[in-house]
Amino acid sequence: MSKLKSTKQSTRELFIEHAKKGDILLNQCIKCSNIMLETVYYCDKCFSNSFRQVPYIGKGRVVTYTIQSVVPEGFEDVNSYAWVIFKLDDCDMNVSGFLPGISTPADLPLGSKIKVVDFHDKHGLILQKY
Ligand SMILES: [Zn+2]
Repeated sequence: MSKLKSTKQSTRELFIEHAKKGDILLNQCIKCSNIMLETVYYCDKCFSNSFRQVPYIGKGRVVTYTIQSVVPEGFEDVNSYAWVIFKLDDCDMNVSGFLPGISTPADLPLGSKIKVVDFHDKHGLILQKY
């Protein structure tokens, strides 16, 4: 049990390490090559639990988002932000993250280019328009 826990933690640490460099670490199924988020335990196509971790460039385009005007702890200097779902350029995977400085839909048209710039312990991926 404790072994499983420590494995999961190091996967998260690795994910964070990559995010801080602008990459998204994804799991690729060794059996069928299906790409999944690093939080899954079984392949959703073939139910294998053998993965290899593959870093992808954390750049993509905005698919949808929600604008929030009440900012969470740690972002008091930001007036408002968007919780963004974006599709990675390099694979067919949607990822979500936190984009500071968005107050109206005009600030962020759908399809805007977005990239991962950092990782926040509580709020996850930190994004930036580019
Ligand atoms: Zn699979």
